[in-house]
Amino acid sequence: MKTAAIKLFNTSSRSVETFVPINGTTVGLYCCGPTVYNYQHIGNLRTYIFEDLLVRALRYAGYSVNHVMNITDVGHLVSDADEGEDKMLLASKREKKTSYEIAEYYTEVFFEHCDWLNIEKPSIVCKATDHIKQMISLIKKLEEKDIAYQSGGNVYFDVAQFSRYGEFAKLDLESLKAGARIEIDSKKRNPQDFALWFTKRKFENQELQWESPWGRGYPGWHIECSAMAREYLGDSFDIHCGGIDHIPVHHTNEIAQSEAATGKKMAKIWMHGGFLVVDKEKMSKSTGGFLTLDKLKERGIDPIAYRMLCLGGSYRKELSWSWEALEGAAQRLDNLKSKFLSREISPWKDLDEDVLNKQVEEMNPSEDFKKIETEFKEAIFNDLGMSQGLAILQKALDDKSLEEIEVLALALKFDTVFGIGIKNWLQTVEIPSNILALAQERDEARKQKNWELSDSLRDQLKELGWTVKDSTDGFRLAKNGK
Ligand code: AMP
Ligand code: ZN
Repeated sequence: MKTAAIKLFNTSSRSVETFVPINGTTVGLYCCGPTVYNYQHIGNLRTYIFEDLLVRALRYAGYSVNHVMNITDVGHLVSDADEGEDKMLLASKREKKTSYEIAEYYTEVFFEHCDWLNIEKPSIVCKATDHIKQMISLIKKLEEKDIAYQSGGNVYFDVAQFSRYGEFAKLDLESLKAGARIEIDSKKRNPQDFALWFTKRKFENQELQWESPWGRGYPGWHIECSAMAREYLGDSFDIHCGGIDHIPVHHTNEIAQSEAATGKKMAKIWMHGGFLVVDKEKMSKSTGGFLTLDKLKERGIDPIAYRMLCLGGSYRKELSWSWEALEGAAQRLDNLKSKFLSREISPWKDLDEDVLNKQVEEMNPSEDFKKIETEFKEAIFNDLGMSQGLAILQKALDDKSLEEIEVLALALKFDTVFGIGIKNWLQTVEIPSNILALAQERDEARKQKNWELSDSLRDQLKELGWTVKDSTDGFRLAKNGK
């Protein structure tokens, strides 16, 4: 498939660049995943929505994406620098469960919430606790090069050995040194040095510990991402993402470790999502304004309305949270749906997905159609211009010179990027009772393993114009377009 040029803002160069992947048409993408010691709040989810939009836009541009996301289930201390207790162990005490149980529970809820938001699951999800071997080997590499040192039982990265340290975040190391608020850990040579491996912590008997050449202990948070990105994407890969707070510490340290160890550039493009803010303050777990997605559902608001809210502005800018703003987004979603359903699209309602896709593919696009699709691509491929893309969708829905199938085709195509579930809007027709009864009879026959009867009922349904498909929670009926 031909690929389109896509422009993305690179934090490294602080400019919008035309993206050229390292390996032709496959994009290697690493996204820093959740620390699973608590629920992810809707601020965190904003970052995952941005990353999902990036993946979808890259696919729309013709690339296949190898999307890797880590799960931090050890090593992330209360402060992003090396201060405080491990967040997982804090949760473990709070909830009187093992840290593995904590990780399992919050990981499951995280992916459930992603599902509610139509965020697609990454190609690879990797847990830090499953990659201790890879972390140790990377630390050893740094030690061999004299970039890591042991002190007071821990292993630290020596920032003085990496001349570009802090360049990425434009850190002013001298003034940071002079004004260091934090009490400098006496084990460190420089205040910016960071732990790669801990053995001597304040919390001796913690359950998360592994053998290492430096003694029993556990890894620092930053080395996790360097090791896992390297394991699945190699020394150099295309795009690395995270929230904007990761620039000065976490990503600065990832770059230092990875590039010092391999001598190669870690990622071509670094992208960062802006914060969701409450009263101009970052939404965070430590402040009061912590909101989870289920609270939106409890108020009867479709989680997709939150996705719509995020689509409304640039992913790089701050987004102000308020219930009013969310209600506004829910209203915009409703308006879009009404506009869509006001078109003459009844022939395609409740149509089987494969049949629908085939009809759309076989359609002969008009010049007007092509022009609108080009405009859409220009918007989306210009650093993910989603709000401009939405305006183009509105325009297409209003365009009376387009054939109805063309409107439908554009809406469905665009939604492969937006992910607001337009396809579901087509499923509105009630299933006639005789059809439902046949499908239920067939389901019963299947449960009793009466394949002959279930096959003949499937054929009968087909004759009557309906396709039945089995799903995990029963069956789904769709018109087969006869
Ligand atoms: P954590 O679980 O704390 O490691 O955070 C998961 C992701 O959410 C990271 O990429 C953070 O940068 C991002 N994040 C944290 N707070 C916010 C916020 N208020 N708005 C947007 N993204 C955030
Ligand atoms: Zn990371």
